[in-house]
Amino acid sequence: MNRTDIAIVGGGIVGLATAYQLSQRFPDLVVTVLEKESKLAEHQTGHNSGVLHSGIYYKPGSLKAINCRDGKKAMEAFCAAENIPYEICGKVIVATREAELPALERIFERGQANGVACEMIGPDRLHELEPHVAGIRAIHVPEAGIVNYRRVCERLAEIVQERNGRVLTGAKVEHIHRSNGHLVISSHTGEIETRYLVNCAGLQSDRITALSGEHPSVKIIPFRGEYYEVKHQAQHLCRNLIYPVPDPNFPFLGVHFTRMITGGVECGPNAVLAFAREGYTKKDVNLRDLAETLGYSGFRTIAAKYWKTGLGEMWRSFSKSAFVKALQRLVPEIEEDDLEPAPAGIRAQAVAPDGTIIDDFLIQETERIVNVCNAPSPAATASLNIGRLIVDKLATRF
Ligand SMILES: Cc1cc2nc3c(=O)[nH]c(=O)nc-3n(C[C@H](O)[C@H](O)[C@H](O)COP(=O)(O)OP(=O)(O)OC[C@H]3O[C@@H](n4cnc5c(N)ncnc54)[C@H](O)[C@@H]3O)c2cc1C
Repeated sequence: MNRTDIAIVGGGIVGLATAYQLSQRFPDLVVTVLEKESKLAEHQTGHNSGVLHSGIYYKPGSLKAINCRDGKKAMEAFCAAENIPYEICGKVIVATREAELPALERIFERGQANGVACEMIGPDRLHELEPHVAGIRAIHVPEAGIVNYRRVCERLAEIVQERNGRVLTGAKVEHIHRSNGHLVISSHTGEIETRYLVNCAGLQSDRITALSGEHPSVKIIPFRGEYYEVKHQAQHLCRNLIYPVPDPNFPFLGVHFTRMITGGVECGPNAVLAFAREGYTKKDVNLRDLAETLGYSGFRTIAAKYWKTGLGEMWRSFSKSAFVKALQRLVPEIEEDDLEPAPAGIRAQAVAPDGTIIDDFLIQETERIVNVCNAPSPAATASLNIGRLIVDKLATRF
């Protein structure tokens, strides 16, 4: 049987960043990443907006705030050292109505508390930065940026392998059991015995927790985020990153315009309940996933509380013109004809049995296992620091 010191389930950015940090700090330990897909970063990491978040939104002192601030610096340093293109292009968070001003003010205060360089600006300065945006006030965040997280993952995996780590694709983990004080993981590539396990399985993280014999304290509810790509003719309408003021009741940031590091401009994502954890179109239904979601007390509580918002999001999902209307609040000149559908992403959002939407990152540990139970946005930005945090937790046991 193959042996390893630490097995990491999940070849998304959190799993790979953890493997990278482990191989850096403990070069004598063998690290093995097990990824079920034939390629790395095929789920959340490969379907996101590609934004390097500044940390402006998050509650001061939270894991999101701390790890986003430090993780962004680490990500920029990594990209610079490894010649991965990234750009600090800046972003604006735009209030279009008086009613949004108190929420905008609260974000600004959080930004200042988190040490984010940001400035409250009026319509004239907004016009200089983004001439096609209509807003009555905005926050300018010069330090926000863009990057391609798939590229980051490819390089992380190469470095882990250069340091004698293993990155196995096509290795779906199906069973985990204990034997002689070790864990034995059965995957599509065979059995592997490990001293420690790190669960970075994103949309499947609660199921990996259950496979390891623990009762997950939260369940993953999948929310699909649909995007449109802005056609060439209208790309001049967005210079960099244009965000609305988010609804403070939800963990999502609202449909935004994002210039991508690979070229072009995307807008989205909305947030609709996905009927399959890894189904990227409206037609994808996985009966097991759907039954688990609908049968979960936490989901039913959310549905009862937020059904109106949920219906609005679903309406925008089915009606392009409704989606465009949301975008026109930020950029009035954008038209339906300027947009074509782009691939969607699915967010893994952890929800507690009482319906609490887990806002912060959530990492739980047992004697031999570290479970990353909730790693939503900005976990890609923060990944190198989340990896460091996990290594700190494991280091006390080596
Ligand atoms: C639409 C969208 C937009 C976003 N925008 C941003 C952004 O702009 N900036 C930002 O910082 N963050 C953003 N995020 C969040 C960010 O993408 C995620 O927080 C991050 O990618 C999470 O990484 P992960 O490694 O935990 O999960 P994933 O990337 O989902 O990786 C988990 C991996 O585990 C594997 N896996 C699952 N089960 C098994 C199994 N049984 N055996 C083996 N492998 C398994 C999966 O195949 C997958 O590759 C966005 C997310 C979405 C969905």
